[in-house]
Amino acid sequence: MKFTAEHDALRRTTRQFVENELNPFIPEWEEAGRFPIHDVFKKMGNLGLLGICKPEENGGLGLDYSYNLVVAEELGRAACGGVPLAIGVQTDMATPALARFGSKELRDEFLNPAIRGEYVASIAVSEVHAGSDVAAIKTTAKKDGDDYVINGSKMWITNSLQADFFCLLANTSDDKPHVNKSMIIVPAKTAGISFSEPLNKLGMRSTTTAQVYFDNVRVPQRNLVGVEGMGFMMQMMQFQEERMWACINAVGGMEKVIQQTIDYTRERTTFGQPLIHNQYVHFRFAELMTEVAALKALTLQACEQHIAGEDVTLMASMAKLKAGRLSREVADSCLQYWGGNGFMWDNPASQLFRDGRLGSIGGGADEIMLGIICKLTDILPKKQKK
Ligand SMILES: Cc1cc2nc3c(=O)[nH]c(=O)nc-3n(C[C@H](O)[C@H](O)[C@H](O)COP(=O)(O)OP(=O)(O)OC[C@H]3O[C@@H](n4cnc5c(N)ncnc54)[C@H](O)[C@@H]3O)c2cc1C
Repeated sequence: MKFTAEHDALRRTTRQFVENELNPFIPEWEEAGRFPIHDVFKKMGNLGLLGICKPEENGGLGLDYSYNLVVAEELGRAACGGVPLAIGVQTDMATPALARFGSKELRDEFLNPAIRGEYVASIAVSEVHAGSDVAAIKTTAKKDGDDYVINGSKMWITNSLQADFFCLLANTSDDKPHVNKSMIIVPAKTAGISFSEPLNKLGMRSTTTAQVYFDNVRVPQRNLVGVEGMGFMMQMMQFQEERMWACINAVGGMEKVIQQTIDYTRERTTFGQPLIHNQYVHFRFAELMTEVAALKALTLQACEQHIAGEDVTLMASMAKLKAGRLSREVADSCLQYWGGNGFMWDNPASQLFRDGRLGSIGGGADEIMLGIICKLTDILPKKQKK
């Protein structure tokens, strides 16, 4: 992929934003278990960072996906994973389908303020009994007059306690599981919505994550995104952007932690020499940097396919699998070289160790990626393909 002066300018803007507006406050936000999401998003909206690929008519910049990846990679340099995750939910998980399939009225009402940073978006797909198996969700949206009436609950919903709207996946008929689902935009303040306490997470602590309950929640049928029954398909498409975003964001985070660990091992002396002078140590850095570069190349290849309008499911799944596993490897290796300091809560490697662990679970676990890769290649004999 060829990056231009415009990509470089966007990279600089995002890097400055991360260094000046995020990193100085992250320890406090991590401690508090939330961050001032509306303030942060408004600042990002003013810089145009929340609508890189979104249509200009909705206030976006209308750029191609390569620009989005530049922003996501730089956000990976934040001092925690939680704040970038909250931003990624807004830009690449809860709004791509709305931007692509939503009616003009729906986009004007929800997408435009999300791009300006005035509304916070959440994606509400997973349920207590259905995370990997999206088709098995039980939440229903039944027509009544001009409304949908929604009943059910959603689990592990990022941004939920601070959200202005949910992009909700619900069953709108009793048809087969892949054609009975619809995507509906649900304002968070609608009567009948309630929340659990914030979930006590291993990592991503500066984001709010909760269970969301829907008890006879009424929204107008015009809040349907696209066509009824196409929700599963739209969510599968939306997942591809989520996965590319997660991969390049992980690249930014891993590059930063590897560099911080290199710097530390240059300073730290054991047995009369800097730690990094041990071949075992500097070879390991060389290996990890190679792996991260390979992941970046794979992700950029997926991005090129996406820009060309091709199906990126295979490439994005391969990259997502690699990103989840590599993040665990990088965090563990780097943490080791910090010794006792690596075991401390606020160490950058231990932060990646905690936050990065989600990469192999959220947005499709590693095993789900392996299943997709098997389906889309000739790994299994034809008759065993499901
Ligand atoms: C911090 C956090 C934030 C999240 N944010 C959101 C959000 O904003 N919106 C949202 O909708 N969801 C969100 N999720 C949910 C997340 O996407 C799910 O946790 C994930 O998809 C896995 O689903 P599950 O937890 O139900 O695991 P399960 O589906 O129960 O799977 C458990 C494990 O079993 C294995 N497994 C599953 N299926 C197979 C298989 N076929 N073959 C082999 N092994 C398998 C995998 O290792 C998997 O991790 C979030 C989760 C967390 C932890």
